[in-house]
Amino acid sequence: MYKTVIGLEIHAQLSTKTKAFCSCRADVFELEPNTVICPVCTGQPGALPVLNEKVVEYAVKAALALNCKINLRSTFDRKNYFYPDLPKGYQITQYFTPIAENGFLGFKFDGDEKRVRIRRIHIEEDAGKMIHQDADSISGASGSLVNLNRCGVPLIEIVTEPDISSPKEARLFMELLRDTLRALDICSGDMEKGALRCDANISIVDEERGLSSNRVEVKNINSFKFVEKALEFERERIIKALETGSDVNRETRTWNFAKRETISMRSKEEENDYRYFPEPDLPPLQLSDEYVERIKERLPELPQQRIERLIREYGIPEYDATVLGSNAKLSSFFEEVAKSTDKPKEASNWIMTELLREINRRGIPLEKMPIGPEHFKILFELLEQEKISVKIAKELFPLMIETGKLPDQLVKERGMEQINDEKLIEDIVLRAMESNPKAVKQYREGKKGVMGYFVGAVMKETRGKANPAAVNEIVRRLLES
Ligand SMILES: [Zn+2]
Repeated sequence: MYKTVIGLEIHAQLSTKTKAFCSCRADVFELEPNTVICPVCTGQPGALPVLNEKVVEYAVKAALALNCKINLRSTFDRKNYFYPDLPKGYQITQYFTPIAENGFLGFKFDGDEKRVRIRRIHIEEDAGKMIHQDADSISGASGSLVNLNRCGVPLIEIVTEPDISSPKEARLFMELLRDTLRALDICSGDMEKGALRCDANISIVDEERGLSSNRVEVKNINSFKFVEKALEFERERIIKALETGSDVNRETRTWNFAKRETISMRSKEEENDYRYFPEPDLPPLQLSDEYVERIKERLPELPQQRIERLIREYGIPEYDATVLGSNAKLSSFFEEVAKSTDKPKEASNWIMTELLREINRRGIPLEKMPIGPEHFKILFELLEQEKISVKIAKELFPLMIETGKLPDQLVKERGMEQINDEKLIEDIVLRAMESNPKAVKQYREGKKGVMGYFVGAVMKETRGKANPAAVNEIVRRLLES
């Protein structure tokens, strides 16, 4: 038996208006390169950093949501290394005393309670970005360009204990963390845009032989799907090595999107020595209990709390609660519909399938959808009174969204009302039997599948509006009489 041991280091970009230590704007994604920079974030001589208060507030919010112990006194330190995207030659981070430690994020996984411990959360600034390009077709120039816009953008780094035991769990953890940061309104959570980045370390324990592989680090994972894919690839690779008796190097690897595999970046032995030392330009950060308490009081309901409440209050399954509860807007819409219709399970079914499908298909956000609880209430009533079939209801749904009209009005306008008139259905069936005695004979000789022919005949003539249950019942009765 092999046991998988995974720990994550996550960088979350804080969605403050300005950068961590200067007044440059912080939302630099896709802006013209090197247009959002100043002497502080490019490290000009004599420029001094000033801590952005919002960065502290956001870090405390994250720490409280992740059940961490807040260090009222934390310090800033320099992480030194030379790279062209780091003009200062160091990053300001919190190495010796981070703002928060010893937390956890709990969630349900396959019915089990899972708890991933958080080792620490610290504040740090981002570095710039290198763009390596091949010879371009106009100038023929090749080389590396540097964009310093991202220098000084505020981040928190969240480091977990190695408590994650499968690639899938790693993905679920990342998704819940994203939803939590979004609920706190402190990070956009867009992995594709680099607002949330994940490095993972993985090792495999061979429980029978009592062996453990070296730890491998996988860097630069930039989508939720690839968190799982890269770790699955790595798990297989390490297990294969253990089985064939070859070495698993302690190294850093990266996920190669094109080849769909991880490749080695550098061996751990060459790891940089960052020569950390206290940042002389920033005093220690001192918080008060009252400050932390004020933030705690204003925390919104977090996704995991919401999921548990939805299960408790509405009796919907864990899966439904997870889909709905991960998004505040979606879940409050669900709650409105569930309350006004008094049918929570139906509400969650229709919202999770038909409504989410329309949202994705049309690319319109929920709040711009021209439908509300009233639409669902009437739709469910029409179904309950058998005025429409489920099939018709599913045809009505996109029409409701296109027009914003209530379903009963649409049913009237378009003559979609279900036909329950037994006499009318019987007449159609009898006519179909008359015109196709061969099929009737086949049925009576035991070819029960022929029934579908008569059901189809009724549906064709009523343009799909006949009550399916009634049609089935009548067709069977007449064929067997
Ligand atoms: Zn700046």
